[in-house]
Amino acid sequence: MRPPITIGEVEIQAGQDRIVDIPITDLSTHTPINLPVHVIHGRRDGPVLFVCGAIHGDEINGVEIIRRLMSLSALRRIRGTLIAVPIVNVFGFLSNSRYLPDRRDLNRSFPGRPSGSLAARLAHLFMEEIVSKCTHGIDLHTGAAHRDNFPQIRGNLDDHELERLACASGIPVLINAGFRDGSLRSAAAEIGVPVLVYEAGEALRFDEVAIRSGVNGVVRVMRALGMLPPRKARKQNITPAVLRSSTWVRAPQSGVLRAIVRLGKPVKQGVLLGLVTDPFGRNEVEVKAHAEGVLIGRTNLPLVHEGDALFHIGRLEGTKANALTLDPAELSEAYEEGITSEIADEPAIA
Ligand SMILES: [Zn+2]
Repeated sequence: MRPPITIGEVEIQAGQDRIVDIPITDLSTHTPINLPVHVIHGRRDGPVLFVCGAIHGDEINGVEIIRRLMSLSALRRIRGTLIAVPIVNVFGFLSNSRYLPDRRDLNRSFPGRPSGSLAARLAHLFMEEIVSKCTHGIDLHTGAAHRDNFPQIRGNLDDHELERLACASGIPVLINAGFRDGSLRSAAAEIGVPVLVYEAGEALRFDEVAIRSGVNGVVRVMRALGMLPPRKARKQNITPAVLRSSTWVRAPQSGVLRAIVRLGKPVKQGVLLGLVTDPFGRNEVEVKAHAEGVLIGRTNLPLVHEGDALFHIGRLEGTKANALTLDPAELSEAYEEGITSEIADEPAIA
């Protein structure tokens, strides 16, 4: 029999499915605040995977990705253990904010320490209670407020295991990203736990395309890890674009932006991305791509100041750009046959 796993003070036996509340601290109102964790501890040995959302408290697509993921019946028969933490930054989530109450960024506070700021303490708790017990992790993010991201995976793709998992995810854009000090991904790598970061959609909004791609992506990674059985009918896999660098196109002047290129579109150097005018429609200036690549991020807020980041272009390197237009209409069919088709009848978020 597989040994139990202990999360918080709770011992979870092999074959059990438990929700555990790990105490963090109290609010100033005396209300206790917990870190909610859903653990499925499989009967059979295998990897221990964490999937977490809302490290930035306003990035809520991951919360819905985890809700849909955890409803899949195939998880009752997994190899290994799945630890899902839908809301890591509980404080930010409560106040629709990216940050902790003191404006610290949790994803710059890892690995944290027990005597530091609230962010450092929460980061430390997450490392001790979750990350240190895992073999792999997936961290779910979105763009910042008013910024939309095309579904993309960020990770250290020079690590062969991570590259294999990222390619298996079926997410069309993979970014080989360096480590950022204080991030969960960087702190986890320090203790030997490889983490993929999934980025899709916009803060404080649900995005059905981002959510479906995310659910499919996590399931495919679990298959690649051997936690779920491999897919029977092999469909042609997307050839992902692997990006090594990216660049922002900034507002050439202040004014009102009309963006005319959708996320996921391949762009050539010099192509028109949008137009900025003053409110009278005068002084119109074209915003053009200064690099060739694919549009992986953009602003959704048309009111801009000179210098604001408007369009994020991922530079393509040695990859085919053919699979890059992810049409929302196509993606409404995107739950694949097999495990994720179980939730395909759920009403889509419009
Ligand atoms: Zn984030």
